[in-house]
Amino acid sequence: MTRKNNLRNLIFVVIILIFAIVVITQIMPGNNNNTLNTKAEVSHEIISNNSAQDGGSVEVIRNIGNPNGKKIACVVGVHPLENDTHKTFLKILPTMNNLNYCYDVYIINVTEDFSKYGSLHPDDQPGRQTGQELALKYVYPKIVNGSYEMALDVHAHGGAYGEHNTFVFSPVSGSVGESYGRNVSSSTQNISYYNPEFTTSGPYLTVPLNQNGVPAFYFEENSFISQNIKDAHMRELINAIDNLKFK
Ligand SMILES: [Zn+2]
Repeated sequence: MTRKNNLRNLIFVVIILIFAIVVITQIMPGNNNNTLNTKAEVSHEIISNNSAQDGGSVEVIRNIGNPNGKKIACVVGVHPLENDTHKTFLKILPTMNNLNYCYDVYIINVTEDFSKYGSLHPDDQPGRQTGQELALKYVYPKIVNGSYEMALDVHAHGGAYGEHNTFVFSPVSGSVGESYGRNVSSSTQNISYYNPEFTTSGPYLTVPLNQNGVPAFYFEENSFISQNIKDAHMRELINAIDNLKFK
């Protein structure tokens, strides 16, 4: 009886050990490799942190997606009031699987003097200009010298463009940025190409980028549509950009 019990205990322990070894070998190397191949490559860097002088800070998250792919620069926060789409972009991009390209996201954090969310029109607080100046001073030099295939500038609006709720455009007509924007629009269901002709932020980022070798276009989203639809539009946008063919 005792011997039988001992044998049973021994077999039980051996089974547990084998099970544990199998579980450990399944989990440990796989996860470590995945972490090394993907997440470990993502890095975070503060580009400028002098709010007293600049009215805000600038940071960058590098290497989202395929760290070995062609590089794309994305910018959020040029207009601090429009932060709902900035947050949406930052939320959705890391959830996209099997991206072809490598995404660096520049984040402008204006710390004061921007309008309350919901009062998008007019957006006339000094923080709007602060964001634009941070873009020109810190983000533009990094992108223009950063070997990027293109740049995306993410914005929102309060419904000022008639039936145009969700759209892309380059402020420089005839630019490569325009043709990339048109390709994105034609490959998506819900993103149109619409150039409002007048932008306040263009001269601080997308215009000089287009003029100096980095095709750039805006994404504009209506701030008052539901978050689910904003999320879906953002996935459409990123998918379309990720399938662009660069020259
Ligand atoms: Zn804007």
